[in-house]
Amino acid sequence: MVSNPRIGIVGGGFAGLYTVFFLRKFIPRGLDITLFDRNNYSLYTPVLHEMATGTVHARHVVIPIRKVVDPREVQIRCEEVIRVDVDKRGVETPSGTFTFDHLVLATGSEPNRGDMASLGFMFGVAEVYGWQFKGFPAWIIWKAFKLGMLPRLKNRFQNVADWMITLLFKRDTSKLV
Ligand SMILES: Cc1cc2nc3c(=O)[nH]c(=O)nc-3n(C[C@H](O)[C@H](O)[C@H](O)COP(=O)(O)OP(=O)(O)OC[C@H]3O[C@@H](n4cnc5c(N)ncnc54)[C@H](O)[C@@H]3O)c2cc1C
Repeated sequence: MVSNPRIGIVGGGFAGLYTVFFLRKFIPRGLDITLFDRNNYSLYTPVLHEMATGTVHARHVVIPIRKVVDPREVQIRCEEVIRVDVDKRGVETPSGTFTFDHLVLATGSEPNRGDMASLGFMFGVAEVYGWQFKGFPAWIIWKAFKLGMLPRLKNRFQNVADWMITLLFKRDTSKLV
């Protein structure tokens, strides 16, 4: 007997849930689908700011996965995926290793602006979007980033003036707060 193709989906956010919805809609039978998420809910980010301002209650920002995905049709595993083996199409969780014929990774993303540090007078190291800099260019990038973070235009002008003085007189007198 030929078994059904096994589909593993990691992540129950927008991408993971819509993968389930579309698979269920267009291939309603003949697939064994397993959905993994470390949480038993999906976060509805478009109204997150309303929760922060108090116009929406926290419980309306989370959607229980079992409410939108029928556990009789899709296996829902509420656990963290700790390792993914893309070649073997397998995922490892604290309760074991699962292999699939097709694996969908929908774990979202995290912003990464890079790393940078000032290392003394007009010297620094920076990595921005994979590009590495050191010395004076890195220091300029670091200063520009700090400048961008300052809240008021007046503070920015003041800091640019300070840095000009630094460059001229070789002494850093600027304040970032
Ligand atoms: C405040 C805010 C407002 C937004 N408003 C809008 C909007 O109005 N319109 C719009 O189109 N977009 C909006 N977005 C963007 C939108 O939220 C994202 O584009 C979307 O959430 C990305 O979906 P995703 O499924 O790729 O990832 P996510 O929604 O981040 O889902 C990833 C899921 O994977 C799970 N997961 C991650 N790692 C693991 C692991 N190792 N094991 C198990 N589970 C794991 C997480 O628990 C999560 O449930 C907003 C974002 C924010 C932050």
